Amino acid sequence: MAVREVVSLPTEILRKKARKVTGFGLDLQVLVDDMVETMRDEPGVGLAAPQVNVPFRVIVVEYGEDEEAPPKLYILVNPEIVRASKETEVGVEGCLSVPGFAGEVERPINVVVKGVDRRGKPLRLKPAGWLARIFQHEIDHLEGILFIDRAERVWKLEEGPATQVIPAD
Ligand code: ZN
Repeated sequence: MAVREVVSLPTEILRKKARKVTGFGLDLQVLVDDMVETMRDEPGVGLAAPQVNVPFRVIVVEYGEDEEAPPKLYILVNPEIVRASKETEVGVEGCLSVPGFAGEVERPINVVVKGVDRRGKPLRLKPAGWLARIFQHEIDHLEGILFIDRAERVWKLEEGPATQVIPAD
């Protein structure tokens, strides 16, 4: 496993549609392990393959919904949102590929995500709240969409201690 470099704007790959994964061999396994290690190293709550300069549809997410429980790791290949609630909420997002900025983004509260795991086995998840937001943010990366495209308001983070916790993914 290795920590890979996270690319940031204006790197072109961040604006491109990522390709579907069709092979589940060693290359994918190494990529997934490296993405998990990179996400933990940053640290972030999610990472999409284009952020480590790989043009394929792979995301990793690690988030604990409950402060008491250890965070849960999700690895999703070829993910898609197949359902989204009409109900939305506004939340503050940041992104490792857009360092130094945060923004308010309105997103559906509940989504249904379909995809396969690292071995190609079908997965169906029903994340809610922050976890749903993280999945939507990461899946956006696979379409070349960044949170700043969806944000109603974007601001520059001040140097020094943060006044609020912003999940960086
Ligand atoms: Zn991001």
